Amino acid sequence: CGIVGYVGPKDCSEVLVNALTKLEYRGYDSAGIAVFDNGEIKTVKTKGKLQDLKDKLAEVGTPKGHVGIGHTRWATHGEPSDVNSHPHSGTRVTIVHNGIIENYMELKDFLISKGRTFLSDTDTEVVAQLLDYKYNGNPLETIDSVMAELKGSFALGIMFKDFPDRVFAVRRESPLIVGVAEGECFIASDVPAILQYTRNYYLLDHDEIVTLSPDGVSFVDEHLDPIEKELQTADWDM
Ligand code: GLU
Repeated sequence: CGIVGYVGPKDCSEVLVNALTKLEYRGYDSAGIAVFDNGEIKTVKTKGKLQDLKDKLAEVGTPKGHVGIGHTRWATHGEPSDVNSHPHSGTRVTIVHNGIIENYMELKDFLISKGRTFLSDTDTEVVAQLLDYKYNGNPLETIDSVMAELKGSFALGIMFKDFPDRVFAVRRESPLIVGVAEGECFIASDVPAILQYTRNYYLLDHDEIVTLSPDGVSFVDEHLDPIEKELQTADWDM
C-alpha cells in the first residue's frame, strides 16, 4: 500500500503512476489517482494492479494537470472493489489514506446523523466526509480539527477543491516523506517512489501537516505553528 502526491510542471498523472510503481513492493489490491484538471478534481480508480489503472486511464481519459494524489490500497475496511478504492471524496475534498481509523464507526454514525451519505465501506471515506463537514475555508485549520478526532494510524494526502494548486498531507504512525526538487514537490510513503525525480526529502513527524504548492513546501505542527525541518539526502541507488 502506498501514497504519492505531486505539485509541479510535469504531467501529474504520469508522475503519480511512475511513483506508485516504485511502491508496488509494499503489496496492494487496488489503485487510483486524483488530479486537478481545469480546476476540477478528476478521479480514476480501480480494483486490481497498476496495469488495470493504466488501462482504465486510457479508456476514460487521463486527467491532465499539475497537482494530484495517488494511492495503492491494501484493503482493511471494505472488500477490494472499484468503489472502495482510493481516492475518496466529499463535495469539496478528495483524499488518499494508508492506515486504519479505529473510531471510524462512531464518526460515521455521527455524520449519518447529520444527513451525510456514504458510497463506500471504507474507514477512509469517513475522514473525507468529516473534512468536508468541518471545512471552514481554511485547509490547515480543518485538517487539524479533524486530526484531533481521529484514533488510529494514518498517512493522508488531501486536496481541497478551493485550492487547486495545493496538496496537503499529514501522518500519524503510518509513514510519509516529502520530496523536493527545483520547482516541484512530492509526498510518498517511502523514498524509492521519488528517487527517479529527486534525492532531497524531509521526514514528516507525527501530527505535522505539510503544504505542497508551486512555491515549495511548508510545515506546521499540531498547533499550526510553522516549523523548520532538516533536509535529508538519499545517497543510495534505486
Ligand atoms: N483502511 C483503508 C482502507 O481499507 C486504507 C488501507 C491502506 O492502507 O491501503 O481502505
